[in-house]
Amino acid sequence: MSRAFNFSAGPATLPEPVLRQAQAEMLEFGNAGASIVELSHRGPEFIAVAQQTEADLRKLLSIPDDYAVIFTSGGATTIQALLPLNFAEAGQAADYVVTGHWGKTALKQAKPYVAANVAANGEAGGYRSIPARGEWHLSPDAAYVHITANETIHGVEFRDIPETGKVPLVGDFSSSIASEPLDIRKFGAIYAGAQKNLGPVGISVLIVDRELLERAGQPRADIFDYRSQLKAESMLNTPPSWNWYMLGLTVKWMLDEGGVAEFAARNARKAAVLYDVIDKSGGFYRNEVEAAVRSRMNVPFFLFDEALDKPFLKEAAAAGLISLKGHRALGGMRASIYNAMPEAGVQALADFMKDFQARNG
Ligand SMILES: *Cc1c(COP(=O)(O)O)cnc(C)c1O
Repeated sequence: MSRAFNFSAGPATLPEPVLRQAQAEMLEFGNAGASIVELSHRGPEFIAVAQQTEADLRKLLSIPDDYAVIFTSGGATTIQALLPLNFAEAGQAADYVVTGHWGKTALKQAKPYVAANVAANGEAGGYRSIPARGEWHLSPDAAYVHITANETIHGVEFRDIPETGKVPLVGDFSSSIASEPLDIRKFGAIYAGAQKNLGPVGISVLIVDRELLERAGQPRADIFDYRSQLKAESMLNTPPSWNWYMLGLTVKWMLDEGGVAEFAARNARKAAVLYDVIDKSGGFYRNEVEAAVRSRMNVPFFLFDEALDKPFLKEAAAAGLISLKGHRALGGMRASIYNAMPEAGVQALADFMKDFQARNG
């Protein structure tokens, strides 16, 4: 067996101890006589897993008690569509700050249900920077302001939490949750699909101010109602129990490793190593994002000559460095370096990049 360093943007690499524990427990969970994935979600084993996962997530992210945690299926995209149904009245304004592909997606999902206002848009600049807070055109009566904390494809990341006064801020943290300490009180809600930084695909997390949950929202089926979901402890229907269990193992691993402060330090070092190689390559490699808002999680970069893309990917894979191909919207390369990517993996990539340049520059 040879596990490579996997730079996939999502689903992404998982910590090896998590995979090993899942493997060891695959046939029998504890003394249950069956795998956790074969047991009722109403049974004592899964209930314990679900509760422990929430307790650990609360500890990891320092989630205040007056914020609810809801586990959902359907990915971050489904949450994007349900935000306006739950937190805005029909026809009410909701402000969207679009800083890349995922901000655009959030806007698209909301449009059928609110008067979506693009308060700021980085598209004209190719999403290489984040429009300054002073240039945003916020609606005074908006239901909420939506931002994408880290743009997974374009590689731009908010480094400061913008002030939005009385209007609740909602943040898509799909690709940066748990990557550094965060003051959740600055948000009405944050959410994340798990498959970047929290575990496997198939489960998402919504962390929401209980006061925001009091809003009437718009007519919707019970299953789309976050108040109903909370009341049913995220088990209004059969939850994705395997994914929930895997998320629990991943969160536990992050706590064991030292929590978000430790990951913030590792992530800063990892990002610095890669941007340094790019910036010191004399144009052989290029990242076009404004330095102050470069993502610590996703590093998109281009080679000076596109003809080198294929050999780069081929030789990288041969060196045990996989999934470096950039998103089809941008081309080039992208190295996703979430919490589960060890520093040794990033160092191996940096060494490979320098060597590749020496041979092809
Ligand atoms: C991946 C991603 C999404 C979409 O997640 P799905 O789980 O596929 O719906 C949304 N926002 C961001 C920032 C992402 O990285």
